[in-house]
Amino acid sequence: MEIVIGKNAGFCFGVKRAAEEAYRCLETGVDCATLGPLIHNPQEVERLRQAGIGCVDSPDEVNQGQTMIIRSHGAAPEVYAEAERLGIPVIDATCPHVAAIHRLVMEYSSDGSAVIIVGEAKHPEVRAIAGWAQGDVCILNDPKEAEAAQLPGRALVVAQTTLRREHFESVLDVIRTRVPDLTVRSTICAATSQRQEEAEKLSSEADVMIVVGGHNSSNTNKLYETCRQRCERSYLIETADEVPSCDIRQTDRVALTAGASTPQWLLNEVAQRLEHLFD
Ligand code: SF4
Repeated sequence: MEIVIGKNAGFCFGVKRAAEEAYRCLETGVDCATLGPLIHNPQEVERLRQAGIGCVDSPDEVNQGQTMIIRSHGAAPEVYAEAERLGIPVIDATCPHVAAIHRLVMEYSSDGSAVIIVGEAKHPEVRAIAGWAQGDVCILNDPKEAEAAQLPGRALVVAQTTLRREHFESVLDVIRTRVPDLTVRSTICAATSQRQEEAEKLSSEADVMIVVGGHNSSNTNKLYETCRQRCERSYLIETADEVPSCDIRQTDRVALTAGASTPQWLLNEVAQRLEHLFD
């Protein structure tokens, strides 16, 4: 069996940075909790929990004396204000790319102008971006929603960073026909598109494509969809224990990729399990 691992698989810059902040807290003895799971990966979240870094849903759940880490998805201004009101120290691990979107949205909407976000309304990154808008916000996930929504005459359009470019363009095509005065900023992250493009190439050349990542991770699921379109035997697995359930034959060329929230140690475990699959 041949095993190929994607060079862009795993943690992106923003997630790596947030994880490093958390591990630095552990090393330096800073008692902290993350606001929401630091990473959309249950195994890594559990590893952090066992090491002493728990997860809270809101600043008022942070224990006395604890520091709150804001993850790479960022948070709305109200969250910072609430932490300050409660006297909770904050480590802000918002990805710089996401923080730039916050500034863009805040500046554009400072006169009350509307902002349209193309992305998933429930995604924490999208919710945080929406929180920085000073005027109306409209969140559109697909062309149908763009056709049905009540849209303003003037707006800024930004994208959830993990969107596929073609998907963003398909929603944008509808918005363009409906909003006369439109400012478009394609805020899709290059890390995501590089991983997607690499996954497209790997899956079109592989017999079996394995995507390692959390089932709850948006970018991992998108990566899996991309692979499945090109390789029928594509699998999304969370841990090495799931390797035996994949249909893999000894002569197969197996390619591996991982979502932006998948830690390197998990990817290595899967690769090792594959290496010993036919021992
Ligand atoms: S995907 Fe891009 S924008 Fe999102 S956290 Fe990673 S580097 Fe930052």
